Order: sequence, then C-alpha cells, then structure tokens
Amino acid sequence: MAKQIFVTGGVTSSLGKGIIAASLAKLLQARGLKVTIQKFDPYINVDPGTLNPYEHGECFVTEDGAETDLDLGHYERFLNIHTSQLNNVTTGRIYQTVINKERAGDFLGKTVQVVPHITDEIKHRMLLLGKTNQFDIVITEIGGTVGDIESLPFIEAVRQLQWELPDEDVLVIHLTLIPYLKAAKELKTKPTQHSVKMMSENGVHPDILVCRTEEVLGNDIKNKIALFCNVKPEAVIEALDASTIYEVPLLMLREKLDVITLKKLGIKEYAEPNLDNWKIFLDKLKYPKAKITIGLIGKYIELQDAYKSILESFIHAGAINEVKVQVIDIHSEFINEQTVAEKLKGLDGLLVAPGFGNRGIDGKIIAVQYARENNLPFFGICLGMQMAVIEFARNVLHIADAHSVEMNANTTNPVINMMEEQKKIKLMGGTMRLGSYPCEIEEGSLANRIYGTTLISERHRHRYEFNNAYLVQFENAGMIASGTNPETGLVEIMEIPDHPFFIGVQYHPELKSTVESPAPLFVHFIAAAKKYNESRSK
Ligand code: GLN
Repeated sequence: MAKQIFVTGGVTSSLGKGIIAASLAKLLQARGLKVTIQKFDPYINVDPGTLNPYEHGECFVTEDGAETDLDLGHYERFLNIHTSQLNNVTTGRIYQTVINKERAGDFLGKTVQVVPHITDEIKHRMLLLGKTNQFDIVITEIGGTVGDIESLPFIEAVRQLQWELPDEDVLVIHLTLIPYLKAAKELKTKPTQHSVKMMSENGVHPDILVCRTEEVLGNDIKNKIALFCNVKPEAVIEALDASTIYEVPLLMLREKLDVITLKKLGIKEYAEPNLDNWKIFLDKLKYPKAKITIGLIGKYIELQDAYKSILESFIHAGAINEVKVQVIDIHSEFINEQTVAEKLKGLDGLLVAPGFGNRGIDGKIIAVQYARENNLPFFGICLGMQMAVIEFARNVLHIADAHSVEMNANTTNPVINMMEEQKKIKLMGGTMRLGSYPCEIEEGSLANRIYGTTLISERHRHRYEFNNAYLVQFENAGMIASGTNPETGLVEIMEIPDHPFFIGVQYHPELKSTVESPAPLFVHFIAAAKKYNESRSK
C-alpha cells in the first residue's frame, strides 16, 4: 500500500494548499517516486458539476468524465499525469454511499452515525487510490480550513489513520499563514499556534508546518513556531509569496520540504531531483522575448478561477513561444456593434470562452464576426465554437434566425441542437457528455497541422452539438468540419481555411494542457497571435 500524506489548512482559506500539495508531489516525482494527489471537499454537493463558477471557480473534467474541483487541474498540470473519478471526493459523495448502503440493509439494524460509519467511508476512500498498486505515495488535500464544522469528519478520519497505520506510513502537513503587521513591522505566529492547537484538540498532530508569508521568516521565528507548535525546527517550512505558482516547487526544494517528507516516511530509495524541463519552462516563462495580447470573452470574467485551466494553458503556450501572454478579460455583455472595434482594439487574438445560458450571447457573436472579418486569430472553445457557428450561419449563410436551442428552444434554424441522448435526461448532476472521446481529423486541415496527426482524444462537457443537417451549406460557404467523432459523426472542430487562424472546438483542450505537454491548440493559437502582432507592428 502507498504511503499517505495529508495536507490540511489553517488560519484562512485560499492559502494555496493545492499548489503546495502539487509542488511537493512534483518534487517527489522528480526524485523517481510514483505520486498522485486527491482532494476531499467538505461540501454536500455530490460533485462540483452543479456549482456556479462564481462561487467555486471552474469545474475541472477528468479523462473518465468526473466533474471535479479545479485543484485537480493543478495536480495534472504539475505532475503531467491523469487524475480520475477517484481523485475527488465530497461529503455529499460519502453520505450518498453510506445512505445507499443503509437503504440496502448493509448495516444490519445498526444506528448509522458520523463515527464510525461516515468516518469509515472517508477512510476507505482515502486509502482507495493507494491500494491500486500504482503509487508509492498518495497525497490527500483536505478542502476547507481546520475549525470548520464541515471538515470535522475528515480531520477525525485523519486522526484515526494516524493512529491505525504504521508511523512511517502517514504524514500530516499543515499549511498556515504568518501575517506581517506593517505597523509593528512584525511577523505574527499566534494564528498558527491557535490553528495547530485546534488540530491537536481534534487529536491530529501535524508533522510539518508550511507557513505562507510575505516576508522571510528567519531562524528566530522558525524556532518559535517549532517550539510552540511542537514540531522540529527543520519541519517549519517557509512558503514565501512567489511570482508564479510554477516557482513554488523550486521554493519548496530550497526549503527541503521533500527531504524532510522522505525522512519522516522512512523512504530510503530516491534519486536526486530531476527538474531540468521544469527549469527550462520557468526560464522561458520569466524572460519572454515579446508580449502579445489575447482577449478572453466570457461572462465570468470577474472571477479569475472561473477560467483557470484556460489561463494556465496560455501560460504554458506562451512559454513555449517565448512570449508573455497578456490576457484581457472582456465582458461579453459590454460588446455591441458600436463598441466592438473599440473593445477589441489592440488584440492579437480572440478567445471565446465556454459557458452556459443566454447571458452575453449577442456580444460573443458580434466579437466572433469582428475576428472573422478582420483576420484576427480566433479560437472558440465549446460554447465559443457554437457562437462561431451561429455567427457564420447568420452573417454568411444569411439564416437570420439561426440559433442554438439552448438559447432559443423554438428557433426554426437550430444550427446548434441538443444531442439526441441528452433529450431524455432529466437530472442535472453528472449528465452532460463528459470526459474524453476520440476525434478524427481531416488531412490537410489547420487542425491536422496543429496536432500533427489525424486521430486525437480530448475532454468534453456539453449538452449541445453542431446540427449536421446544415453541414453541406456551411462547407460550401467556407466553414468546414475538420474534426468529427468517428463513431457518431458529432462535429468536434470547425474551421475557416480562408482565414489565417479561425478554429472552434466542441471539446476543452485546456483540460489537458500541462507544463511538460502544452495543449497544441493553445501553442498554435499563440503562435498565430504572435505572427499577427509582428505583422501589425510592421
Ligand atoms: N452550453 C453549451 C453546451 O452545453 C456549451 C458548454 C460549454 O461551453 N462547456 O453545449
């Protein structure tokens, strides 16, 4: 069985547990160990698929079609591995399983209780990935902050595992904040002491403290934290604010987080960390040769996390192209025929984002038209592709009422239609077309040049699709379906060969972009934008 590392958080939320977990995993992986990360979330939704991106950020989709927390995106981007349905568990999922068992009569007349039934199910799920024989180490990130009512059963499960498993098989890392009081010019350790005390009251004693801080901690503070929190001084790890999340593994390397982890877990066989590719990437990221500007058109632009994977994909693709990608968020509701030229002025490329529902649709369509008519590189993802289809239908094919049935159920020209199998679905959670499907690419197309192959597989999350009844009309007028699902004929990629770079995809390429394997569509989109920028400045 794999060794278990638990990562909890204290003092405040948003300290970056996911990044710390992913950075430690990266270092252990770079030392030749097989590592994965899972996230346990304390909310009652069975998965985050039904959560509003405003509240919870983007919903990340795995290969096997699980709708998961966005931290799984970080795990994949850092580790260059695939996560799965097993890597994200919520309180809702735990209760659902226990209640189903109760209804099936599995508890034989017993009173079903939080301890032991809920905690047993949590422990079972915590250990599940470690039993697959695929990993040396499983890192479990516990969502929320220690002290939340909701997190208690998870903390209790960690306590029991710390007690049940051999000492060398369990490690608890607690991430806290050391605030800096400007007026007093002092770093304050009290909140951390309280947070560790709260954990101790729950019976869990952290082995390592990772301390987020704006200022260097210094040995005095480290020793003080160690003394009052009952850990060794070398187990107090400074996590200074970094200029990019991709720097954090190197900061953790410097602080020897991996070394102390290996020591505590009694792991003796490991290599020197090989982070060569990572450092090359970081160098290119930090010292770009030029800057380009991409407009991201969406309706959740106020919240950075809503388009997390897209923004990270731009970072990966920018580094490879040695340019800094400045992403300008443009709210689609502010685009109309009068404002479009002004709003899109100075852009080197336009990305129309995924999304749901009617809000801001008209602005998106007008923006696509502008990109198409002005040879501005265009990239549409999911809803973004559907908008490109509607725009082309209306303005090139002159089908004035062309629409998606998602926005207008009664349109006489549904160029975007609900997928057949979706029509009978009534439940909302986990019922979209989710996860990875193959796509066959037309030889000689832009998509073919981008991917360098004719068969790809990408991840999905949608209910609507291009209506193939209109395909001949589209292709005759210059917009072609260059990628389709080999079994169903579902259109996956639309492009305009006469345009320098105009492509829309029904799937989500951003979900597979990692530091070591950037998504080809993003890489080529940025290359096209770079070219556009150079031609503009000439
Ligand atoms: N709302 C659209 C659909 O369901 C697009 C979904 C998306 O952009 N993820 O097909």
